[in-house]
Amino acid sequence: MSSKITPLEFNGCWDLSPALESTKHIKLKKQYELFINGKFVKPKSENYFASINPSNEEKLSMIAEASDNDVKDAVSSARGAYNKYWSKMPPKERGKYIFRIARLVQEKAKEFAVLETMDGGKPIRESRDIDVPLAAAHFFYYAGWADKLQYAFPNRNPMSIGVAGQIIPWNFPLMMAAWKIAPALATGNTVVLKPSETTSITALKLAELIQEADLPPGVVNIITGDGGTGENLVNHNDIDKIAFTGSTKVGKLIMKAIAGKNIKSTMELGGKAANIIFEDAPLDQAVEGIINGIFFNQGHVCCAGSRLFVQESVFEVVTRKLKDRIQSLILGNPLDKNTDIGAINSKEQLNTINNYLNIGKKEGAEIFQLDCNIPAKGFWCPPTLFTNVSQSHLIAKEEIFGPVLAIQTFRTIKEVISKANNTPYGLSAGVWTEKGSKIFNLTSKINAGVIWANTYNKFDPTSPFGGYKESGHGREGGLQGLLPYLNLQHVK
Ligand code: NDP
Repeated sequence: MSSKITPLEFNGCWDLSPALESTKHIKLKKQYELFINGKFVKPKSENYFASINPSNEEKLSMIAEASDNDVKDAVSSARGAYNKYWSKMPPKERGKYIFRIARLVQEKAKEFAVLETMDGGKPIRESRDIDVPLAAAHFFYYAGWADKLQYAFPNRNPMSIGVAGQIIPWNFPLMMAAWKIAPALATGNTVVLKPSETTSITALKLAELIQEADLPPGVVNIITGDGGTGENLVNHNDIDKIAFTGSTKVGKLIMKAIAGKNIKSTMELGGKAANIIFEDAPLDQAVEGIINGIFFNQGHVCCAGSRLFVQESVFEVVTRKLKDRIQSLILGNPLDKNTDIGAINSKEQLNTINNYLNIGKKEGAEIFQLDCNIPAKGFWCPPTLFTNVSQSHLIAKEEIFGPVLAIQTFRTIKEVISKANNTPYGLSAGVWTEKGSKIFNLTSKINAGVIWANTYNKFDPTSPFGGYKESGHGREGGLQGLLPYLNLQHVK
């Protein structure tokens, strides 16, 4: 059988058996406004920007751009709601509202999944089976904590902190909104959330549900705009906490901006995870895990297993299996349920990735890519792996945030631990071996917030997530995810 992939048409109706998700039930507004004080309001700037579908470059809608005055309105509405209602409400009542949001997200799951895929370019299978269910699960999980905070932190008096400014990236727009909003509300805080300019639509859809859930006005405010809007939010002087997910570069700017102020912060930043495969690993299972680890969401994943370390004795067999598996991946219309690899989120991100591909080749690494037709419109990058990579190569050091895997080899455990830790990042890692002792040895020596063993990219709202070093600080998820939104006083 030929390993060549059947050519794809742009509309994704690939020859074998197209299975396009219907978009008939999707109601996209021509124009989306800001969600402030429980209402959709026009931006004072009167400016709007286009949100496009990255798989065909068609305009989906126009999105309001929040000016500094809009940011001020949003923060003052959050402060008012905090003082008037939310901080005074009995916790179990707060919990009911969050449960309501969770149920509404579930009810509208299909619409959310299709919108997420149209706006962000990720395969519908992923938005349907991962992003949306995990977003709902986060709301359910934190709704449950709302009236149990004193049990989470015994002998302490957990107090809310006030208004949280929350800034999220484009790779998991709805899920990141849930990760931010759910724990903040459960702990009695109010929020102003800013999604990324390329993927605002599902956050605004969530705003519609928040309105439907009848939350007191101002408890959740969602303001759209670019980095400048985020900067205005960070610099506002009535914010008590900044929760940021995004690049290490912007994370550092934010830390500088809030230094010396009485503002709590959580920073979920970039990563360059080591995925380590030993010769005794179940190789076929590991190959699936490596593929999932780097190509899930086109590699737009902060914890992507982008540095693969293969024990030298199994290097040939692992790379052969990986290349075979790459050739079976289907790249195309993200709305097709067969699609494995969707579109790159934006032209800008595609340029960044292509730049790294050129750097990798110039550095002398050997490139292998899925052999497929690239659709004529939209932003696409075939799954790529590089061999002949050394520790000093930029493609092994810097976060690419695309479907690009850099493969290196190792002989001993000591060597791989030192190579895995040779990075400014410390977000995640993976280990593949049949020996439990090796797993415990490695997990205690690798500096990463999350380490998966014989699996990869598994998320659960009960499990804390976050980094070390330049991958940030603070945790989201689990009981630990409540901490950044609370002041804990000793009970006298
Ligand atoms: P950016 O840091 O560029 O942007 C993140 C968010 O910050 C966006 O909403 C962006 O707005 C906004 N922003 C940009 N500049 C500023 C500023 N000066 N002040 C305040 N806000 C600003 O990251 P990306 O959106 O490109 O996301 C990719 C990065 O996010 C990767 O490095 C990835 O590793 C990281 N990430 C980390 C995760 C984690 O949990 N550790 C999870 C997911 C992603 P806009 O987009 O509108 O310009």
